[in-house]
Amino acid sequence: MTKVRVGINGYGTIGKRAAFAIQRMDDMEVVGVTKTTPSYEARLALKEGLPLYAVSAEKVAAFEKEDIPVAGTLQDLLPKCDLIVDATPGGVGEQYKPMYEKAGVKAIFQGGEDHGLAGISFNALANYPEAWGANFVRVVSCNTTGLVRTLFPIDRVFGIDKVFAALVRRGADPGDKKGFALNAIEPSLKLPTHHGPDVQTIMPWLNIRTMAVVTPTTMMHVHCITCELRKKATESDILSVWDNVPRIRFVSGKHGIKSSAQIMELARDLGRPRGDFMEIIVWQDGVKMEGNTLYYYQAIHQESDIVPEIVDCIRAMMKVENDPMRSIRKTDKVMGIGK
Ligand code: NAD
Repeated sequence: MTKVRVGINGYGTIGKRAAFAIQRMDDMEVVGVTKTTPSYEARLALKEGLPLYAVSAEKVAAFEKEDIPVAGTLQDLLPKCDLIVDATPGGVGEQYKPMYEKAGVKAIFQGGEDHGLAGISFNALANYPEAWGANFVRVVSCNTTGLVRTLFPIDRVFGIDKVFAALVRRGADPGDKKGFALNAIEPSLKLPTHHGPDVQTIMPWLNIRTMAVVTPTTMMHVHCITCELRKKATESDILSVWDNVPRIRFVSGKHGIKSSAQIMELARDLGRPRGDFMEIIVWQDGVKMEGNTLYYYQAIHQESDIVPEIVDCIRAMMKVENDPMRSIRKTDKVMGIGK
């Protein structure tokens, strides 16, 4: 089997996790990653055996000064790739699209870019076929991935009249230098927030409204969700639907998992790489039906939940596997998701 040749532009929080996952698949490989500066992550890439490229010619000298060997620049990397995973900061990917187009290379953008940049927003369970053979696709953000993972199967089985979700967002990633105020909760004042319309890039029929606050925590987002369902359901019906779809994991307050901190501790106890949790975590004892209204809480590990989606998106865009579930199962097996 010839492997899909993938380049990663932006070897940061998402880029290094995407590279780690892609390297472990038997149908794709990382042919190079880019860095803007000779940081510890540049050294990490080399340690992982990944060819390192400077993002542009002006940056090469900085790497040479630090004795970090680079194989060239992004321009040199592009002809070696079938597809680029653009994991540059939000809004930056847009600047690169003409370069990818000129080189005839497909690209996956991340949730920090607008839907319009690619025209297709992706979640493996919900709309894998839409990415089939596409040149540009955007894998939606961590929050949108979380909302789609739990809402899509519930809508499919019971029908959803309307959804309200309050998002309690982490202030920054653990390694972020931008940090966040230590003693503040900041509401998003532009209402309803963009998260609802972002879910609609994948489920355009869904009546969803969202609000969000940013909080001084780094580990996870937590969503508080209510849905009005069209068909009657019990709590165990809801749990059984989620139990039968991939990438959702239950935890229980009764078993001592009462907070995002304990979920992350569980990820470390399970020996998950980097202590990541790629599944969406639902508190099974936090699911409640009252009449037709479903209430639930879920937690999102923002640094990693989109990583398996990127892998599946590569298979769809490169026409490697036409059965979404086969791709999802393969990715999950290799990454230890669900174990
Ligand atoms: P990051 O800052 O951790 O990593 C970005 C990387 O791109 C860094 O290695 C940086 O050096 C590099 N970079 C910066 N400017 C560049 C440029 N002009 N050209 C090439 N590379 C450049 O960011 P991240 O958190 O990995 O986010 C990347 C994308 O993923 C964003 O669109 C973001 O919205 C999205 N995303 C982030 C998260 C998260 O929680 N971190 C979750 C889901 C989606």
